[in-house]
Amino acid sequence: MKLSPMMQQYMDIHEEYPDSILFFRLGDFYEMFFDDAILVSRLLELTLTGKACGLEEKAPMCGIPFHAADTYIVKLVEMGYKVAVCEQLEDPAHTKGMVKRGVIRVVTPGTVTSEAVLNERENNYLAAAYLDQNGMSVTYCDISTGELCTTEKRYGSALYEDMLNELVRISPKEILISQSLADAHDEKKMGNLTGGYIRVLPDSYFSENAARDAVRAQFGSVSLTALGLDGRDCCLLSLGTLLAFLLETQMQDLKQITECRFYEIGSAMALDRSTIRNLEITETLYEKKKQGSLLGVLDRTRTAMGARLMKQMLREPLNDAAAINRRLDAVEALVNDPLTRNDLTEALKQVYDFERLAGRIASGNANGKDMIALRNSVRVLPEVKACLSGLPGELLSTLARDMEDLHEVQEMITRAIVEEPPMTVKEGGIIRPGYSKELDELELSIRDAKTWIAGLEAQEKERTGISHLKVGFNKVFGYYIEVSRSNLDMVPDNYIRKQTLVGGERFVTPELKETEGLVLNSEAKINQLEYDLFTELRGKIQEFIGPIQRTSRAIAMTDVLNAFAAVSDRLNYNRPVVNDGMEIVIDKGRHPVIEQMTEDGMFVSNDTRMNDKDSSMLIITGPNMSGKSTYMRQTALIVLMAQVGCFVPAERAEIGVVDRIFTRIGASDNLAQGQSTFFVEMSELAYILRNAKERSLIILDEIGRGTSTYDGLSIAWAAVEYLCCRERHIRTLFATHYHELTVLEEKLEGVRNLSVDVSEENGDIIFLHRIVAGSASRSYGIHVAKLAGVPLVLLENARSKLARLEEESRTEEVRDAMTDEAAGEKKPREQQMSLFTETINPAVERLKNLDLMNLTPSQAIRELEDLQELIREQ
Ligand code: ADP
Repeated sequence: MKLSPMMQQYMDIHEEYPDSILFFRLGDFYEMFFDDAILVSRLLELTLTGKACGLEEKAPMCGIPFHAADTYIVKLVEMGYKVAVCEQLEDPAHTKGMVKRGVIRVVTPGTVTSEAVLNERENNYLAAAYLDQNGMSVTYCDISTGELCTTEKRYGSALYEDMLNELVRISPKEILISQSLADAHDEKKMGNLTGGYIRVLPDSYFSENAARDAVRAQFGSVSLTALGLDGRDCCLLSLGTLLAFLLETQMQDLKQITECRFYEIGSAMALDRSTIRNLEITETLYEKKKQGSLLGVLDRTRTAMGARLMKQMLREPLNDAAAINRRLDAVEALVNDPLTRNDLTEALKQVYDFERLAGRIASGNANGKDMIALRNSVRVLPEVKACLSGLPGELLSTLARDMEDLHEVQEMITRAIVEEPPMTVKEGGIIRPGYSKELDELELSIRDAKTWIAGLEAQEKERTGISHLKVGFNKVFGYYIEVSRSNLDMVPDNYIRKQTLVGGERFVTPELKETEGLVLNSEAKINQLEYDLFTELRGKIQEFIGPIQRTSRAIAMTDVLNAFAAVSDRLNYNRPVVNDGMEIVIDKGRHPVIEQMTEDGMFVSNDTRMNDKDSSMLIITGPNMSGKSTYMRQTALIVLMAQVGCFVPAERAEIGVVDRIFTRIGASDNLAQGQSTFFVEMSELAYILRNAKERSLIILDEIGRGTSTYDGLSIAWAAVEYLCCRERHIRTLFATHYHELTVLEEKLEGVRNLSVDVSEENGDIIFLHRIVAGSASRSYGIHVAKLAGVPLVLLENARSKLARLEEESRTEEVRDAMTDEAAGEKKPREQQMSLFTETINPAVERLKNLDLMNLTPSQAIRELEDLQELIREQ
């Protein structure tokens, strides 16, 4: 038996894309067969059917309607599959025999372009990463906007880490690496660390010749020097791979990519993935929502381009004081001029996502509506420019200058396209009258005919006396005169029967047939001409892609700065002083997100003072839930906001530029990957200690919790000494439940104790959320347990155990050990064991400790009630 010709065609095409799922177009469906069908039906929960294929058994098959394909493709792509989209290359209606088919595009996570699924407020990056012993490079691109950037680093001691950090910052959806890199470093781990889908390609992609070919294919005669890549051999390899992969998957010219921007690593603050997540910069830690994150508070952007840029900027704060201050100058100018800000906001609201419009124009996917959207956006540019040029500040003037005039584009579109064009570009109705003489003449030539047809119904009704007579049109039969059954006897002789219906008959007349021929013929010509005129216009506008992209970048930045100003004004933020010093001074700082969630005026502001000398290590003790971690995060966020160029939630702030922020906070969800909490905690600590430099800022929220007390305390203690010693003073905020650490304030220069103030009223404890100097007197853990609803009997038991522990002065022992380093391990473990094996009756203990002389009668009654309850619970 032999495969049917169509199935043979399927097999032949699939053979060319063996690693992809083939979406094979059959009429209104994309079908999958054999293994692809079995796999996809399982993954997407589609019904698996069968199709006769010439073999004994039917071929397994599943399909999806073509108009819904985008969502299915994206689901598969997100699971890491490649999808090859195979279309009919001929119109089946006009083809005899088998329709020609071919793959027109391969979709992968980093190359999704469908508007329906791209998040307009987020970039969709594809990256390529290269590493060898001499250097590393990373290139990334968003094909929906045409942004292409590359960087490299040579001769470092931690090139792999540098590469990972860069990838984390970019946060690509897909990362291309070579087989050798995958062999040398666990690709799965790379995926976990960067959050991108790792695609391993043969080493041949990363060769110099292949790279040069790909760069030439994209940029033509433009030399590497002109691209700013002369001598950047490392860059060339990742850039070439990325371009080659794009050309292979997109199968068309990438006209939206007009330039390649080289940037230096280190010009932005490097934030690792766990810090971005822990500080909830762009989304919340657990629910992954924008609301509740820093971005959620700051994102008042009015354009999709601005929204994308803001997200990117928050992930890469600057570390050059001069550049930061340029942004702050711009924000200040906008804060000080609410009227202009208002005008600017109104103008920006009218700007469409013309960065992605430009992408669609370049790739030939734009329709008439896109053109009108581009025109409308361009039309407000003079307003935006006028707003900016009236304001002081170098950055704002640069942005105004970068916005090109583009009035030529505006005029071209206005002249050519009707105000409300249809979605499709092939069915006419898109070109404005007066634009093309030829088109107008064609329209005119059928105007009389169309008028005649329009008047035919009334005319024939009158002539024949048939009241139920209708003139209509359908695609199969063309124009017809429909007469209902009851009037058929009145039909005149010149009517020719064409079609019989249930309720009547359809006719034509020779005259109608002739006129129809004229109209349809001319309409086909008109549609074709309109299409040609439209593509010609699109081609002309393609020449402006570069200026359009430059303008859209300037618009995006303007939008972000304007949003910073709006938020700063509304939420009472102030301009920070940013300099190259080492001080971090914050007066009355607030946590930007928690402040918004707290009732008006109830957020307690706090001060921070740190430097690299006498207060580099702030050890914060205090009860759980009192506000330690809020305080530490707020300090980190204020630093981050300042270095992004935004005002900060503080009365005053002076920030000595921080090169990196590191955080070690809470349990990480790596637990799901089978690593213990303690192991994760230690890996994170190791990473921080190895990478932190003198300008870094470290947030440690509990260290050593996941192991036994002495183990944990020793590690925490050693970590403090490591970060705060003669050789280095790295600015660190360290919240800990190890009160013992607070003695280090006297021992080590740089250590400062802070605690959260607590007030006690009638035995109840109130957290004041106020940070004060000095260490906390107690941990109040039992109080917090009570708040959480732990049973009374347990609380009492815990209380008496605590009393015993304190009596036996174990903490004192530890303190002794800490002040006298020579004192090694004593006998604490045995003691610990004996404490835990002894059983104490809490009711008895409580009774024993009652101070009868100081008890009022009502307190005595309450005590009795409690005691009774305790005994009943036992
Ligand atoms: P800790 O780290 O000490 O366990 P958190 O910082 O998580 O405590 O704070 C617990 C809760 O207390 C926060 O979710 C917030 O609701 C509240 N809180 C913390 N700091 C403040 C503050 N400065 N003003 C008002 N409420 C605060």
